Amino acid sequence: MNTIQLKTSIPGPKAKKIIDRRCASMPAGLGKLSDVVVEKSEGALIWDVDGNQLIDFAGGIGVLNAGHRPKEVVEAINHQVNKSIHSCILVCTNEPAVELCEKLNAITPGNFSKKTLLANSGAEAVDNAVNIARYYTKRAGIIVFEGGYHGRSYLTLSMTSKYGLFKKGYGSMASDIYRLPAPNMYRPFQGMNQEQYLDHCINQLDHAMISQISPEDIAAIVIEPVQGEGGFVPMPKAFLQKIRSICTSHGIVMIADEIQSGFGRTGKMFAIEHSEVIPDIITMAKSMGSGMPISAITGRAEILDTPHPGAVGGTYGANPVASAAALATLRIINTPAFLNRANEIAKTIHTEMDALKASNNFIGDIRGIGAMQAIEFVKDKATKEPNPELTQAILTEALNNGLVIIRAGLFSNCIRLLVPFSITDEQLREGIQVLKNAINTVTK
Ligand code: PMP
Repeated sequence: MNTIQLKTSIPGPKAKKIIDRRCASMPAGLGKLSDVVVEKSEGALIWDVDGNQLIDFAGGIGVLNAGHRPKEVVEAINHQVNKSIHSCILVCTNEPAVELCEKLNAITPGNFSKKTLLANSGAEAVDNAVNIARYYTKRAGIIVFEGGYHGRSYLTLSMTSKYGLFKKGYGSMASDIYRLPAPNMYRPFQGMNQEQYLDHCINQLDHAMISQISPEDIAAIVIEPVQGEGGFVPMPKAFLQKIRSICTSHGIVMIADEIQSGFGRTGKMFAIEHSEVIPDIITMAKSMGSGMPISAITGRAEILDTPHPGAVGGTYGANPVASAAALATLRIINTPAFLNRANEIAKTIHTEMDALKASNNFIGDIRGIGAMQAIEFVKDKATKEPNPELTQAILTEALNNGLVIIRAGLFSNCIRLLVPFSITDEQLREGIQVLKNAINTVTK
Protein backbone atom coordinates (compact mmCIF):
# COMPACT_ATOMS: atom_id res chain seq x y z
CA MET A 1 0.00 0.00 0.00
CA ASN A 2 1.19 3.50 -0.80
CA THR A 3 2.47 5.65 2.04
CA ILE A 4 0.87 8.80 0.66
CA GLN A 5 -2.82 8.78 1.62
CA LEU A 6 -4.87 11.75 0.45
CA LYS A 7 -8.33 12.20 1.97
CA THR A 8 -8.88 15.75 0.69
CA SER A 9 -7.23 18.08 -1.76
CA ILE A 10 -4.39 20.13 -0.32
CA PRO A 11 -5.29 22.34 1.42
CA GLY A 12 -8.36 20.54 2.79
CA PRO A 13 -11.16 22.41 4.59
CA LYS A 14 -9.46 22.57 8.01
CA ALA A 15 -6.13 23.62 6.49
CA LYS A 16 -7.85 26.32 4.40
CA LYS A 17 -9.27 27.95 7.53
CA ILE A 18 -5.88 27.97 9.27
CA ILE A 19 -4.14 29.33 6.18
CA ASP A 20 -6.72 32.14 6.02
CA ARG A 21 -5.92 32.93 9.66
CA ARG A 22 -2.19 32.81 8.86
CA CYS A 23 -2.64 35.26 6.00
CA ALA A 24 -4.65 37.60 8.23
CA SER A 25 -2.22 37.43 11.16
CA MET A 26 1.24 37.07 9.58
CA PRO A 27 2.92 39.45 7.13
CA ALA A 28 2.69 38.85 3.38
CA GLY A 29 6.48 38.84 3.03
CA LEU A 30 6.78 35.58 4.98
CA GLY A 31 7.10 33.08 2.14
CA LYS A 32 4.68 30.15 2.05
CA LEU A 33 6.02 27.37 -0.15
CA SER A 34 3.08 25.01 0.36
CA ASP A 35 -0.46 24.92 1.73
CA VAL A 36 0.32 22.02 4.07
CA VAL A 37 -0.81 22.64 7.66
CA VAL A 38 0.98 20.13 9.90
CA GLU A 39 -0.78 18.21 12.62
CA LYS A 40 1.92 15.65 13.33
CA SER A 41 5.19 14.45 11.85
CA GLU A 42 7.51 11.49 12.26
CA GLY A 43 10.44 10.05 10.29
CA ALA A 44 9.92 11.28 6.74
CA LEU A 45 6.14 11.63 7.04
CA ILE A 46 3.81 14.54 7.71
CA TRP A 47 0.14 14.29 8.62
CA ASP A 48 -1.86 17.43 7.93
CA VAL A 49 -4.88 18.72 9.85
CA ASP A 50 -7.29 17.11 7.35
CA GLY A 51 -5.83 13.65 7.89
CA ASN A 52 -3.71 13.52 4.73
CA GLN A 53 -0.54 11.46 5.01
CA LEU A 54 2.34 13.03 3.07
CA ILE A 55 5.99 12.25 2.28
CA ASP A 56 8.43 15.02 3.15
CA PHE A 57 11.31 15.78 0.74
CA ALA A 58 11.88 19.28 2.16
CA GLY A 59 12.95 18.34 5.69
CA GLY A 60 12.05 21.78 7.04
CA ILE A 61 14.67 23.23 4.62
CA GLY A 62 17.48 20.90 5.60
CA VAL A 63 16.78 20.78 9.33
CA LEU A 64 15.67 17.17 9.52
CA ASN A 65 18.62 15.04 8.38
CA ALA A 66 17.91 12.81 11.39
CA GLY A 67 14.18 12.85 10.56
CA HIS A 68 11.08 14.31 12.17
CA ARG A 69 11.14 13.80 15.94
CA PRO A 70 13.81 11.08 16.27
CA LYS A 71 13.03 9.09 19.42
CA GLU A 72 16.42 9.79 21.05
CA VAL A 73 16.08 13.54 20.45
CA VAL A 74 12.53 13.66 21.83
CA GLU A 75 13.72 11.77 24.93
CA ALA A 76 16.69 14.10 25.40
CA ILE A 77 14.43 17.17 25.10
CA ASN A 78 11.90 15.74 27.58
CA HIS A 79 14.64 14.79 30.00
CA GLN A 80 16.16 18.28 29.92
CA VAL A 81 12.79 20.10 30.05
CA ASN A 82 12.06 18.27 33.27
CA LYS A 83 15.30 19.57 34.79
CA SER A 84 15.82 23.13 33.53
CA ILE A 85 14.72 25.08 30.45
CA HIS A 86 16.69 28.29 30.72
CA SER A 87 19.09 30.15 32.95
CA CYS A 88 21.11 32.10 30.28
CA ILE A 89 24.74 31.23 29.60
CA LEU A 90 25.70 34.81 30.51
CA VAL A 91 24.34 34.22 34.01
CA CYS A 92 24.82 30.49 34.76
CA THR A 93 26.56 27.57 33.06
CA ASN A 94 24.75 24.39 31.96
CA GLU A 95 26.46 21.07 31.22
CA PRO A 96 24.66 20.13 27.95
CA ALA A 97 25.94 23.32 26.28
CA VAL A 98 29.50 22.72 27.51
CA GLU A 99 29.43 19.10 26.34
CA LEU A 100 28.09 20.16 22.94
CA CYS A 101 30.94 22.67 22.49
CA GLU A 102 33.48 19.99 23.47
CA LYS A 103 31.96 17.59 20.90
CA LEU A 104 31.90 20.17 18.09
CA ASN A 105 35.52 21.15 18.85
CA ALA A 106 36.44 17.47 18.53
CA ILE A 107 34.52 16.50 15.37
CA THR A 108 35.09 19.54 13.13
CA PRO A 109 38.00 19.31 10.68
CA GLY A 110 41.38 20.64 11.84
CA ASN A 111 43.87 19.19 14.25
CA PHE A 112 44.27 22.37 16.30
CA SER A 113 42.83 23.84 19.47
CA LYS A 114 39.23 25.00 18.90
CA LYS A 115 36.43 26.85 20.64
CA THR A 116 32.68 26.94 19.91
CA LEU A 117 30.16 29.75 20.31
CA LEU A 118 26.51 28.65 20.42
CA ALA A 119 23.71 30.83 19.03
CA ASN A 120 20.13 30.39 17.79
CA SER A 121 19.92 30.74 14.00
CA GLY A 122 22.10 30.38 10.96
CA ALA A 123 22.19 34.12 10.34
CA GLU A 124 23.28 34.74 13.91
CA ALA A 125 26.10 32.22 13.52
CA VAL A 126 27.38 33.90 10.33
CA ASP A 127 27.03 37.37 11.94
CA ASN A 128 29.20 36.23 14.84
CA ALA A 129 31.75 34.49 12.63
CA VAL A 130 32.24 37.65 10.57
CA ASN A 131 32.37 39.95 13.60
CA ILE A 132 34.97 37.73 15.25
CA ALA A 133 37.05 37.48 12.05
CA ARG A 134 37.02 41.29 11.84
CA TYR A 135 38.02 41.64 15.48
CA TYR A 136 40.83 39.09 15.07
CA THR A 137 42.28 40.51 11.85
CA LYS A 138 41.52 44.19 12.63
CA ARG A 139 40.27 44.39 9.01
CA ALA A 140 36.83 45.11 7.55
CA GLY A 141 36.65 43.46 4.11
CA ILE A 142 34.52 40.37 3.59
CA ILE A 143 34.55 38.31 0.38
CA VAL A 144 31.41 36.38 -0.56
CA PHE A 145 30.18 34.74 -3.75
CA GLU A 146 27.49 34.99 -6.39
CA GLY A 147 24.75 32.49 -5.58
CA GLY A 148 25.64 32.53 -1.87
CA TYR A 149 23.04 32.69 0.91
CA HIS A 150 23.99 33.55 4.48
CA GLY A 151 20.79 34.77 6.17
CA ARG A 152 18.51 37.75 6.63
CA SER A 153 20.06 39.83 9.40
CA TYR A 154 21.39 43.17 8.14
CA LEU A 155 24.94 41.86 7.76
CA THR A 156 24.10 38.43 6.38
CA LEU A 157 21.48 39.81 3.99
CA SER A 158 24.17 42.13 2.69
CA MET A 159 26.35 39.05 2.16
CA THR A 160 23.54 37.14 0.44
CA SER A 161 23.21 36.97 -3.37
CA LYS A 162 19.96 36.78 -5.45
CA TYR A 163 18.85 40.40 -5.17
CA GLY A 164 15.26 40.21 -6.44
CA LEU A 165 13.92 37.65 -3.99
CA PHE A 166 15.87 38.46 -0.85
CA LYS A 167 17.05 42.08 -0.90
CA LYS A 168 14.85 44.18 -3.18
CA GLY A 169 13.17 47.04 -1.36
CA TYR A 170 15.42 47.05 1.69
CA GLY A 171 17.53 50.02 0.63
CA SER A 172 21.19 50.25 1.50
CA MET A 173 23.21 47.26 2.61
CA ALA A 174 26.24 46.86 4.91
CA SER A 175 29.57 48.06 3.55
CA ASP A 176 32.92 46.32 2.97
CA ILE A 177 31.36 43.27 1.32
CA TYR A 178 32.83 42.15 -2.02
CA ARG A 179 31.08 39.55 -4.19
CA LEU A 180 33.02 37.36 -6.61
CA PRO A 181 31.84 34.84 -9.22
CA ALA A 182 31.60 31.25 -7.97
CA PRO A 183 32.03 28.37 -10.39
CA ASN A 184 28.76 26.74 -11.41
CA MET A 185 30.08 23.90 -13.56
CA TYR A 186 26.70 23.48 -15.28
CA ARG A 187 26.91 27.04 -16.55
CA PRO A 188 30.46 27.79 -17.72
CA PHE A 189 30.90 31.11 -19.51
CA GLN A 190 30.12 30.85 -23.19
CA GLY A 191 32.99 29.56 -25.26
CA MET A 192 34.79 28.01 -22.28
CA ASN A 193 35.02 24.32 -21.51
CA GLN A 194 34.73 23.29 -17.86
CA GLU A 195 38.47 23.29 -17.29
CA GLN A 196 38.97 26.76 -18.78
CA TYR A 197 36.00 28.07 -16.80
CA LEU A 198 37.29 26.72 -13.50
CA ASP A 199 40.73 28.23 -14.24
CA HIS A 200 39.01 31.52 -15.02
CA CYS A 201 37.10 31.50 -11.70
CA ILE A 202 40.30 30.68 -9.82
CA ASN A 203 42.15 33.47 -11.64
CA GLN A 204 39.32 35.85 -10.74
CA LEU A 205 40.16 35.30 -7.08
CA ASP A 206 43.67 36.64 -7.65
CA HIS A 207 42.37 39.40 -9.90
CA ALA A 208 39.93 40.58 -7.20
CA MET A 209 42.88 41.21 -4.87
CA ILE A 210 43.89 43.94 -7.34
CA SER A 211 40.59 45.09 -8.82
CA GLN A 212 38.42 45.06 -5.69
CA ILE A 213 40.34 45.02 -2.41
CA SER A 214 43.89 44.40 -1.19
CA PRO A 215 44.35 41.13 0.69
CA GLU A 216 45.70 42.99 3.75
CA ASP A 217 42.26 44.62 4.12
CA ILE A 218 40.28 41.36 3.95
CA ALA A 219 39.08 39.90 7.25
CA ALA A 220 37.33 36.80 5.91
CA ILE A 221 36.34 34.82 2.84
CA VAL A 222 32.96 33.19 3.50
CA ILE A 223 31.92 30.29 1.28
CA GLU A 224 29.32 27.52 1.25
CA PRO A 225 31.20 24.34 0.16
CA VAL A 226 27.94 23.36 -1.58
CA GLN A 227 25.72 26.37 -2.24
CA GLY A 228 22.29 25.73 -0.72
CA GLU A 229 19.76 28.36 -1.74
CA GLY A 230 21.91 28.89 -4.86
CA GLY A 231 20.76 25.49 -6.16
CA PHE A 232 23.04 22.85 -4.61
CA VAL A 233 26.10 23.94 -6.53
CA PRO A 234 29.19 22.10 -5.26
CA MET A 235 32.32 24.25 -5.15
CA PRO A 236 35.13 22.41 -6.97
CA LYS A 237 38.00 21.18 -4.82
CA ALA A 238 40.55 23.32 -6.71
CA PHE A 239 38.49 26.46 -6.03
CA LEU A 240 38.26 25.75 -2.30
CA GLN A 241 41.96 24.93 -2.21
CA LYS A 242 42.80 28.24 -3.90
CA ILE A 243 40.70 30.12 -1.33
CA ARG A 244 42.53 28.26 1.44
CA SER A 245 45.90 29.20 0.00
CA ILE A 246 44.94 32.90 -0.40
CA CYS A 247 43.68 32.95 3.20
CA THR A 248 46.85 31.28 4.49
CA SER A 249 49.16 33.58 2.55
CA HIS A 250 47.46 36.78 3.70
CA GLY A 251 46.22 35.98 7.22
CA ILE A 252 42.57 35.99 6.09
CA VAL A 253 40.04 33.91 8.06
CA MET A 254 38.43 31.20 5.90
CA ILE A 255 34.83 30.65 6.99
CA ALA A 256 32.92 27.63 5.65
CA ASP A 257 29.17 28.20 5.91
CA GLU A 258 27.91 24.64 6.47
CA ILE A 259 24.48 25.66 7.71
CA GLN A 260 22.73 23.73 4.93
CA SER A 261 25.48 21.34 3.78
CA GLY A 262 26.62 20.15 7.22
CA PHE A 263 25.55 17.48 9.66
CA GLY A 264 25.84 14.53 7.31
CA ARG A 265 23.84 15.85 4.36
CA THR A 266 26.63 15.16 1.85
CA GLY A 267 27.77 11.85 3.37
CA LYS A 268 30.44 13.41 5.59
CA MET A 269 29.81 15.38 8.76
CA PHE A 270 30.81 18.54 6.88
CA ALA A 271 30.82 19.05 3.10
CA ILE A 272 34.21 20.80 3.19
CA GLU A 273 35.74 17.43 4.16
CA HIS A 274 35.23 16.26 0.55
CA SER A 275 37.84 18.81 -0.54
CA GLU A 276 40.31 18.10 2.29
CA VAL A 277 40.43 21.87 2.89
CA ILE A 278 40.47 22.92 6.53
CA PRO A 279 38.66 26.19 7.20
CA ASP A 280 39.46 28.41 10.19
CA ILE A 281 35.81 28.68 11.21
CA ILE A 282 32.73 26.57 10.40
CA THR A 283 29.20 27.91 10.83
CA MET A 284 26.46 25.35 11.42
CA ALA A 285 22.74 25.29 12.29
CA LYS A 286 19.68 23.59 10.72
CA SER A 287 20.07 19.81 11.18
CA MET A 288 22.22 20.19 14.28
CA GLY A 289 19.18 20.51 16.55
CA SER A 290 16.62 18.38 14.64
CA GLY A 291 14.29 21.40 14.72
CA MET A 292 15.27 23.03 18.01
CA PRO A 293 16.58 26.52 17.20
CA ILE A 294 20.33 26.24 17.66
CA SER A 295 23.44 27.24 15.72
CA ALA A 296 27.17 27.22 16.31
CA ILE A 297 30.45 28.59 15.12
CA THR A 298 33.47 26.42 15.74
CA GLY A 299 36.99 27.48 14.89
CA ARG A 300 40.56 28.13 15.87
CA ALA A 301 40.72 28.94 19.58
CA GLU A 302 43.03 31.93 19.03
CA ILE A 303 40.44 33.50 16.68
CA LEU A 304 37.33 32.70 18.78
CA ASP A 305 39.08 33.94 21.93
CA THR A 306 40.03 37.36 20.53
CA PRO A 307 36.90 39.41 21.33
CA HIS A 308 36.92 40.85 24.86
CA PRO A 309 34.57 39.40 27.51
CA GLY A 310 31.08 40.75 26.78
CA ALA A 311 31.70 41.13 23.03
CA VAL A 312 29.67 38.03 22.07
CA GLY A 313 26.62 36.20 23.43
CA GLY A 314 22.89 36.65 23.81
CA THR A 315 19.92 35.70 25.97
CA TYR A 316 19.16 32.34 24.38
CA GLY A 317 22.45 31.03 22.92
CA ALA A 318 23.64 27.81 24.62
CA ASN A 319 20.14 26.97 25.79
CA PRO A 320 20.22 23.59 27.61
CA VAL A 321 17.17 22.09 25.87
CA ALA A 322 18.45 22.98 22.40
CA SER A 323 21.92 21.73 23.39
CA ALA A 324 20.51 18.42 24.65
CA ALA A 325 18.65 18.03 21.34
CA ALA A 326 21.86 18.75 19.42
CA LEU A 327 23.86 16.23 21.47
CA ALA A 328 21.25 13.53 20.81
CA THR A 329 21.19 14.47 17.11
CA LEU A 330 24.98 14.22 16.94
CA ARG A 331 24.86 10.74 18.45
CA ILE A 332 22.54 9.71 15.60
CA ILE A 333 24.29 11.49 12.75
CA ASN A 334 27.96 10.99 13.53
CA THR A 335 28.04 7.27 12.78
CA PRO A 336 29.36 5.55 9.62
CA ALA A 337 25.99 3.90 8.91
CA PHE A 338 24.08 7.17 9.12
CA LEU A 339 26.58 9.05 6.95
CA ASN A 340 26.51 6.23 4.41
CA ARG A 341 22.73 6.61 4.15
CA ALA A 342 23.44 9.86 2.26
CA ASN A 343 25.14 7.85 -0.48
CA GLU A 344 22.33 5.29 -0.58
CA ILE A 345 19.76 8.08 -0.96
CA ALA A 346 21.86 9.70 -3.71
CA LYS A 347 22.16 6.37 -5.52
CA THR A 348 18.41 5.79 -5.47
CA ILE A 349 17.73 9.36 -6.66
CA HIS A 350 20.12 8.92 -9.61
CA THR A 351 18.96 5.40 -10.44
CA GLU A 352 15.39 6.68 -10.62
CA MET A 353 16.01 10.08 -12.20
CA ASP A 354 18.94 9.82 -14.64
CA ALA A 355 16.96 7.99 -17.33
CA LEU A 356 14.24 10.65 -17.15
CA LYS A 357 16.90 13.35 -17.46
CA ALA A 358 18.20 11.70 -20.62
CA SER A 359 14.76 11.61 -22.25
CA ASN A 360 13.29 14.90 -20.98
CA ASN A 361 14.42 18.10 -22.68
CA PHE A 362 13.54 20.25 -19.65
CA ILE A 363 15.85 18.58 -17.12
CA GLY A 364 19.18 20.34 -17.57
CA ASP A 365 21.13 18.96 -14.65
CA ILE A 366 20.89 16.65 -11.66
CA ARG A 367 23.73 17.40 -9.27
CA GLY A 368 24.98 17.58 -5.74
CA ILE A 369 27.01 15.62 -3.23
CA GLY A 370 25.51 12.75 -1.24
CA ALA A 371 21.90 13.38 -0.26
CA MET A 372 22.16 17.08 -1.20
CA GLN A 373 20.82 16.68 -4.74
CA ALA A 374 18.99 19.17 -6.96
CA ILE A 375 17.28 18.97 -10.33
CA GLU A 376 17.67 22.03 -12.56
CA PHE A 377 14.93 22.81 -15.11
CA VAL A 378 15.59 24.68 -18.34
CA LYS A 379 13.54 25.77 -21.35
CA ASP A 380 15.92 23.95 -23.63
CA LYS A 381 18.94 21.76 -22.95
CA ALA A 382 21.06 23.53 -25.54
CA THR A 383 20.43 27.12 -24.43
CA LYS A 384 20.08 26.21 -20.71
CA GLU A 385 17.67 29.09 -20.31
CA PRO A 386 16.26 28.78 -16.76
CA ASN A 387 12.64 27.66 -16.48
CA PRO A 388 11.24 28.87 -13.12
CA GLU A 389 7.59 28.70 -14.29
CA LEU A 390 7.88 25.02 -15.18
CA THR A 391 9.70 24.35 -11.91
CA GLN A 392 6.86 25.93 -9.93
CA ALA A 393 4.25 23.97 -11.90
CA ILE A 394 6.07 20.70 -11.10
CA LEU A 395 6.30 21.59 -7.41
CA THR A 396 2.57 22.37 -7.28
CA GLU A 397 1.69 19.11 -9.07
CA ALA A 398 3.93 17.09 -6.71
CA LEU A 399 2.45 18.81 -3.66
CA ASN A 400 -1.08 18.15 -4.91
CA ASN A 401 -0.12 14.49 -5.01
CA GLY A 402 1.20 14.35 -1.48
CA LEU A 403 4.92 15.15 -1.78
CA VAL A 404 6.24 18.09 0.25
CA ILE A 405 9.09 19.48 -1.83
CA ILE A 406 10.73 22.88 -2.42
CA ARG A 407 12.74 24.84 -4.95
CA ALA A 408 16.15 26.53 -4.91
CA GLY A 409 18.53 28.23 -7.33
CA LEU A 410 19.66 31.69 -8.31
CA PHE A 411 16.96 31.52 -11.03
CA SER A 412 14.39 29.65 -8.86
CA ASN A 413 14.56 26.84 -11.41
CA CYS A 414 15.85 23.96 -9.29
CA ILE A 415 14.03 21.44 -7.15
CA ARG A 416 16.10 20.49 -4.13
CA LEU A 417 15.83 17.18 -2.36
CA LEU A 418 16.41 17.40 1.39
CA VAL A 419 15.05 13.98 2.25
CA PRO A 420 15.22 12.99 5.94
CA PHE A 421 17.69 10.10 6.23
CA SER A 422 15.16 8.17 8.29
CA ILE A 423 13.05 7.67 5.15
CA THR A 424 12.51 4.03 4.21
CA ASP A 425 13.60 2.84 0.75
CA GLU A 426 9.94 2.29 -0.20
CA GLN A 427 8.96 5.80 0.88
CA LEU A 428 11.95 7.25 -0.99
CA ARG A 429 11.04 5.43 -4.20
CA GLU A 430 7.38 6.39 -3.84
CA GLY A 431 8.27 10.06 -3.35
CA ILE A 432 10.57 10.02 -6.37
CA GLN A 433 7.81 8.38 -8.42
CA VAL A 434 5.42 11.21 -7.45
CA LEU A 435 8.07 13.69 -8.55
CA LYS A 436 8.65 11.85 -11.84
CA ASN A 437 4.90 11.74 -12.50
CA ALA A 438 4.69 15.48 -11.79
CA ILE A 439 7.55 16.17 -14.22
CA ASN A 440 5.94 13.97 -16.90
CA THR A 441 2.50 15.53 -16.41
CA VAL A 442 3.75 19.10 -16.56
CA THR A 443 6.21 18.62 -19.43
CA LYS A 444 4.11 16.39 -21.69
N1 PMP B 1 23.64 30.03 5.59
C1 PMP B 1 23.17 29.06 4.79
C2 PMP B 1 24.13 28.32 3.91
C3 PMP B 1 21.81 28.75 4.78
O1 PMP B 1 21.34 27.79 3.94
C4 PMP B 1 20.94 29.46 5.62
C5 PMP B 1 19.44 29.17 5.64
N2 PMP B 1 18.88 28.74 4.48
C6 PMP B 1 21.47 30.45 6.46
C7 PMP B 1 22.83 30.70 6.43
C8 PMP B 1 20.59 31.23 7.40
O2 PMP B 1 20.08 30.41 8.39
P1 PMP B 1 18.81 30.86 9.25
O3 PMP B 1 17.63 30.84 8.33
O4 PMP B 1 18.72 29.85 10.35
O5 PMP B 1 19.10 32.23 9.77
